[in-house]
Amino acid sequence: MSMQATLRAHGLCKSFANGSVRSHVLRELSLELQAGQLTLVSGPSGCGKSTLLALLSALEVPDAGEVHALGQCLTGLGARALQEFRLRHTGFVFQGFNLFPALTAWEQVALPLGYMGLSDREARERAMQALDEVGLSHRAHHRQAQLSGGERQRVAVARAIAKAPQLLFADEPTSALDADNGRRVVALLRRIARTHGTTVLCVSHDPRLVRHADRVLSMEDGRIHSDWCPEPGTDPIEPALP
Ligand code: ADP
Ligand code: MG
Repeated sequence: MSMQATLRAHGLCKSFANGSVRSHVLRELSLELQAGQLTLVSGPSGCGKSTLLALLSALEVPDAGEVHALGQCLTGLGARALQEFRLRHTGFVFQGFNLFPALTAWEQVALPLGYMGLSDREARERAMQALDEVGLSHRAHHRQAQLSGGERQRVAVARAIAKAPQLLFADEPTSALDADNGRRVVALLRRIARTHGTTVLCVSHDPRLVRHADRVLSMEDGRIHSDWCPEPGTDPIEPALP
């Protein structure tokens, strides 16, 4: 089976100025990501993982280098086209859930679907499907305060996948979770990659999660210094969702 790259970055450079000092965060970083795989990005705090995610998801623009995604060169696109690309093709799971306290779980998931022009009814149906996929149908009418940390993060995953994006990005989605819930979220991301053919890129510095990924990229000093496929673990890959 030949693997098809859905996302390619070439020679990415990014630096930030702190007063008179300019620090180089990414130094000619190149990578290719495949559809249907969960790729984990690991590396010490401050090594540029979030910056890499921002560039690959078209939230930020590189100083040099190019990003090609789904057959388009993103680097030449204007702000509006980039916004459109993000809306149509990308899902993002943030570190701190970013949920609205006043909304129920299904409303959180349905909200961005409304922005995409879906009718209320379609948005509700898709939101319910996405909640079912993350094992939270029974929590659809609960608000944030009534959900556990693991459940909140799964609502955030449901929100990111409800529009069926081809590219899914997650920045430290397990950092606020205990080990079991962390594994559950990573296993869920991998299942999404497999069943929908989604290209999933997840940042995590938790070494216990590494063996649940299809591929691991370790970053150091603004570059990828190792790229490997973990041996499948001997423990159950996907613990049952409650
Ligand atoms: P990681 O996610 O691996 O912890 P980041 O990509 O967030 O690392 O940050 C890498 C480096 O870039 C850090 O030193 C950080 O302080 C710096 N940095 C990130 N974003 C900005 C910004 N918008 N302005 C200035 N410095 C930044
Ligand atoms: Mg980060």
